[in-house]
Amino acid sequence: MPSENDGVLIVLSSPSGAGKTTLVKMLSKTDNFEVSISHTTRQPRPNEIPDKDYYFVNEEEFKRLIKNEEFLEYAKVFNNFYGTTRTPVIDKLNKGKNVLFDIDWQGADQIKNKKLDYKLITFFILPPSKEVLFERLSSRDMKDKLIAEERMKQFGRDVLHWINYDYVVINNDLKDCYTRIFNLINAEISNGSKDYDLEYIRNHVDKLTS
Ligand code: 5GP
Repeated sequence: MPSENDGVLIVLSSPSGAGKTTLVKMLSKTDNFEVSISHTTRQPRPNEIPDKDYYFVNEEEFKRLIKNEEFLEYAKVFNNFYGTTRTPVIDKLNKGKNVLFDIDWQGADQIKNKKLDYKLITFFILPPSKEVLFERLSSRDMKDKLIAEERMKQFGRDVLHWINYDYVVINNDLKDCYTRIFNLINAEISNGSKDYDLEYIRNHVDKLTS
């Protein structure tokens, strides 16, 4: 039975290239914060460590987990399945740990709709401008430029989900963005005052989508 000593769920989502994964890693260094490790059918990248970055599984195993209703949420993102199994999350929350989720908007929606008895705080991370995003998404050769253009189109679709999040934070400077998120989490947990300007965010989204 959930109690006030339980941890909180903290979701970070963002369009590709906004720096969310780095922010989750920074927040995970905080005392009492733990990252939820997702399952995915995507192939591991060279720098990724199995069972730390992801549980890498095949589609058959992923479908078995769906059938057994083990997922708190799952979604198909860029042709691969990603999902969060329920038991490890609930165990951590019951031990008073705050659980960080690096998941997309579909997963964030699903967790929100579950209306769990635990506090949920959701963040959407945005880049400072379309120009900076394009720079972050592209490297030197032409092939990467084409991928970056494709991702810019995807960005235009993903950014529209900002409205469903508790807070939108602009990643202009990593340290500053981290501090903003950290302060908002603390304010939420302690019912303190929140330094948050929704009008500013609305204007920023207008600029990104114009
Ligand atoms: P990547 O393949 O680059 O690690 O992740 C691609 C996208 O999938 C990112 O937006 C990431 O946040 C999202 N993602 C990672 N794990 C999960 C998960 O368990 N559930 C959902 N819904 N999305 C996830």
